[in-house]
Amino acid sequence: MRDQFGRTIDYLRVSLTDRCNLKCIYCMPEEGIPLLPHEEILRIEEILEILREMARLGLKRVRLTGGEPLVRRGLIDLIREAKHIQGLEEISLTTNGTFLKGFAGVLKREGVKRVNIGLPSLDPEKYRKITRLGDLKTALDGLNSAIEEGFNPLKINTVLLKGLNDDPVPFFELISKLEVEVRFIELMPVGRINLDHLFISQEEFLKKIPKGIELRERESLEGNGPARKSFFFPGSKGSISFIPALTGHFCRECNRLRLTADGHLKPCLFSNIEIDLKPALRPAFDSENLRGKFNEALFKKPKEKDLFNVSKRFMTQIGG
Ligand code: SAM
Ligand code: SF4
Repeated sequence: MRDQFGRTIDYLRVSLTDRCNLKCIYCMPEEGIPLLPHEEILRIEEILEILREMARLGLKRVRLTGGEPLVRRGLIDLIREAKHIQGLEEISLTTNGTFLKGFAGVLKREGVKRVNIGLPSLDPEKYRKITRLGDLKTALDGLNSAIEEGFNPLKINTVLLKGLNDDPVPFFELISKLEVEVRFIELMPVGRINLDHLFISQEEFLKKIPKGIELRERESLEGNGPARKSFFFPGSKGSISFIPALTGHFCRECNRLRLTADGHLKPCLFSNIEIDLKPALRPAFDSENLRGKFNEALFKKPKEKDLFNVSKRFMTQIGG
């Protein structure tokens, strides 16, 4: 698949549900979101049809996300089927980690290649404050289970929040012990959440790294994402990297589409442009119609992000 600016699109992020057991402050409002009615949510078989059709056009990698993907019923059936789709080389998953203890083994056995874990703080109180409902220990148990199952590379997503989790030292302590890559992500103003006062840029954050820590550069752990260079210090097992989602310029290299839980294809995370795939799936699957919709999404994929017209969907309704 190619868009009109010559970018090859071979990566799809699939949001399996808009439901989540946490309510992270950067992802959804305190009162929660009106949940999609059951019949609006794509069925596992419908998602598989989309994956099969896209794989025929060059889709190579899929990342399952949410909401929280581990609360989606049928997740394992989906993975089991999807791994046999011809052309699809990799299935990965992004989770908040809180159910990973029970899932890491089966995910590994079923062939999930990579797991990314959202972990906004290593301090129990701050973790609770940021996730509103979460318990740090449960998330760390999940992280450790994933390590025990041999998920490597294991990446941790940390959305940077000024004054809340922008002390790099606890994360350095973590990577001194664990072979993980902590990715510091700039807060994105997606959805109708105004957290401008908590925004901290990558550049500002870098200034908070204590002078004595000598960071060295290396290629980031292999992956599909925009974080390319990672940094380590002598003796550290893991590394850190940055996703300057707001101040960086990745659009030229953007290789992805996003599928929402209610069957809308989003050509750009930041944009309100969406293509509803449901008419090509219901009442009956229509492959020609579906291809037409994929082409429409490719055609409408913007050249770059437009921060004056950002998506009205909350991140939990997009999948990150
Ligand atoms: N529940 C899973 C999780 O927390 O990882 C998967 C879904 S969540 C929407 C995917 C990722 O989106 C999270 O790991 C988090 O890093 C990122 N995210 C959510 N809201 C964000 C925001 N406003 N800005 C930047 N990243 C955000
Ligand atoms: Fe849930 Fe993930 Fe959003 Fe947090 S970031 S509220 S865990 S979907």
